[in-house]
Amino acid sequence: MKYVSTRGAAPELTFEEAMMTGLARDGGLYVPEVIPTLSHNQILAMQGQSYEEIAYTVMHPFIGDTFTDEEFRELINAAYVDFRHAARAPVKQLDSNHFLLELFHGPTLAFKDFAMQLIGHMFQASLTRSGKRITIVGATSGDTGSAAIEAFRGLKNVDVFILFPHGRVSEVQRRQMTTPVEPNVHALAMDGDFDDCQAVLKDMFNDFDFRDGVNLAGVNSINWGRVLAQVVYFFSSAVSLGAPHRSISFTVPTGNFGDIFAGYIAKRMGLPIKELVIATNHNDILHRTLQTGSQVKEGVTPSISPSMDIQVSSNFERALFEAYGRDGITVAAQMDDLKTKGAFTISQGAIDILRDTFSSGCASEDETYAAITDELVRSGELLCPHSAVGVTVADRSQNAIPMITLATAHPAKFPEAVEKATGLHPPLPPHMADLYERLERVTRVPNDLSVLKTLIKERIAK
Ligand SMILES: *Cc1c(COP(=O)(O)O)cnc(C)c1O
Repeated sequence: MKYVSTRGAAPELTFEEAMMTGLARDGGLYVPEVIPTLSHNQILAMQGQSYEEIAYTVMHPFIGDTFTDEEFRELINAAYVDFRHAARAPVKQLDSNHFLLELFHGPTLAFKDFAMQLIGHMFQASLTRSGKRITIVGATSGDTGSAAIEAFRGLKNVDVFILFPHGRVSEVQRRQMTTPVEPNVHALAMDGDFDDCQAVLKDMFNDFDFRDGVNLAGVNSINWGRVLAQVVYFFSSAVSLGAPHRSISFTVPTGNFGDIFAGYIAKRMGLPIKELVIATNHNDILHRTLQTGSQVKEGVTPSISPSMDIQVSSNFERALFEAYGRDGITVAAQMDDLKTKGAFTISQGAIDILRDTFSSGCASEDETYAAITDELVRSGELLCPHSAVGVTVADRSQNAIPMITLATAHPAKFPEAVEKATGLHPPLPPHMADLYERLERVTRVPNDLSVLKTLIKERIAK
């Protein structure tokens, strides 16, 4: 299995190389050369299987010969052993035909753990084999950073630097990033918003001297290994509700388009997914894109669902690449327009394809609070604000097809919003109960590429 760039001008890579690289050298994102499919019977056989068994079947066709079958099984088992729910990704019923996929039972209480725990183990296996040392730099709107730190803390051949927007993440998110004691963990609070963090990170990857000098590796949601790990729970949840004998729809709280793109891959692999609904908060660039056919960048307005406060939705490029029939030159031109003019217009043919695959909706702050309040009364489920955005949008598109909404984080990660909506203060799980007493360690940094490069070089030289 080879991987190609969405901009068509970077070398083809193996799974292992694509995973270790992150961003392609032409600025594009890696996607598999062909999307493998699973047969009806292969999907049927998942009924009653463990999450780990399903994960193996779904991901195995993508990894080529990077790991032996036995190694790969061991990596999967190791990745999910610390989850606090035996089902890993349990499905709960909210209403007669509306279900919630709980993705917050991992160590840092957000869905990011599903991918990050797995790629942490895969990176480690790969580095042990090659003897290489790498520098991971990631940008986060809150949850990727904590999940990456959890996955890579204390690893011998890895330094991990996380850029988060100063003052724009929740206190629990910040403390998860600033309290680990391992010296290979570096939390950097940057002036600006998440899009600024993501932009400076992309500039770092496009500076090839620096990139090669420090062996830069990326674990942001554009990393193919992460998208792949997220495909699994679309299968496990749909199968638990009767797929492949019946179709299922999904609503996905969306920021960087990683999670919903994983749903798209599941569909292309043969899972009978009827609708894939993009749910956004008031930072609704994706919703507007589908409505108007143009992607127009506006400023980010902070919300109670900070992990979705994004205007440059990186993984959308992968969907665009598919909608344009894998025409990398057109994708490169559109991405260039986005960077230089802050906007691009999608061709009629491509937007029709996107609208066939995805629908969308957005939830205001008031609607999000109301969904948290109402859902507690209706089903007893305490939603985090991101999940509440999803439930709000999903409730509008109810029909005869079962709807699964992804619950992307645990309510205790966003206690202020949850308490304001319900009067209840969601407690942190026992393994994190002393989070507020732990010592914080963080470096405040400006939004300045050269300052950051110098800091990273100095830290890894120690
Ligand atoms: C990252 C995140 C999202 C957005 O996911 P994308 O893959 O970036 O679209 C939504 N909710 C929570 C809680 C998150 O951490």
